[in-house]
Amino acid sequence: MSLLKWMFASKCPKCGEPLVASGDGVCSVKACPHNHYTEETYSSLGVQIVYDEEPDSLN
Ligand SMILES: [Zn+2]
Repeated sequence: MSLLKWMFASKCPKCGEPLVASGDGVCSVKACPHNHYTEETYSSLGVQIVYDEEPDSLN
């Protein structure tokens, strides 16, 4: 199962840079410094939202 590793990724899947953590008590945000990837976690709701950059280099 690689899904669990992916869900708790701490590095950008695109460039491998460590994700920058921020957020308040409700929402925890981890984002690539180059805006490839953003992950919002609402721990009280058990919800995780991932914003992945649109693939723009696929021909
Ligand atoms: Zn990145």
